[in-house]
Amino acid sequence: MDATPLYRRVLVKVSGEALMGPEPFGLHQPTVEAIADDLAATHALGVELGVVVGGGNIFRGMQVSSSKGVDRATGDYMGMLATVMNALALNAAIMRRGVQSRALSALDMPAVCETYTRPRALAHLDRGRIVIFAAGTGNPFFTTDTAAALRAIETGCEALLKATNVDGIYTADPKKDASATRLERLTHDEVIQKDLKVMDTAAFALARENSLPVIVFSIHEPGSIQAAVCGGARATTVAS
Ligand code: UDP
Repeated sequence: MDATPLYRRVLVKVSGEALMGPEPFGLHQPTVEAIADDLAATHALGVELGVVVGGGNIFRGMQVSSSKGVDRATGDYMGMLATVMNALALNAAIMRRGVQSRALSALDMPAVCETYTRPRALAHLDRGRIVIFAAGTGNPFFTTDTAAALRAIETGCEALLKATNVDGIYTADPKKDASATRLERLTHDEVIQKDLKVMDTAAFALARENSLPVIVFSIHEPGSIQAAVCGGARATTVAS
């Protein structure tokens, strides 16, 4: 694979599920370490990296609010706290590799990590530090996909790399339809016209309005973040 990066600065979205590995819940440390390896290798190519982490491996507001007797907004704040735990774990794993990294939380918790402000994030990125964006957008009723699109645009990222369980966008659900084929390249408008599920509506609308390319690839291939940055991953690219 040609290890020449196509982008100078990118935002990687790592879902909570991706950090869960084969476990049914929580963090699978070997998986966290593998993702940290991939991020460190990508960083070593000179790519400036922001990372938005999800929290679905621990808590999802919508799923649990009714069953736990809390309202949706409270459930969502619990979900945002879950993303902070994931961010701390990933940050520690990256730092152990000798790469400078900072977790920045959209919810103010100074005893735990720095608070997100755009100038602070930009300063860290400009100094070559990996920035892990925690607590999503800081608002209930949003998702970390929306946070990923938002932070990517705010910090001048040239692409959003969405790490998922599948290696791209298919014509149909490949788990249910054996004839489903992977699409190499699509425009934002084609995703809307074909009603393909890439990210939630708010996240995708932000990406489309700001012509932010979205690259969908599988996190399960070792080195897949580096490959996606260099254009060598099995993936789908959505770009205008
Ligand atoms: N969340 C939120 N606002 C945000 C981002 C996340 O309220 O801006 C909450 C929401 O409850 C969500 C949970 O945090 O279900 C975990 O985030 P998400 O489901 O996006 O994680 P992922 O699916 O990527 O693991």
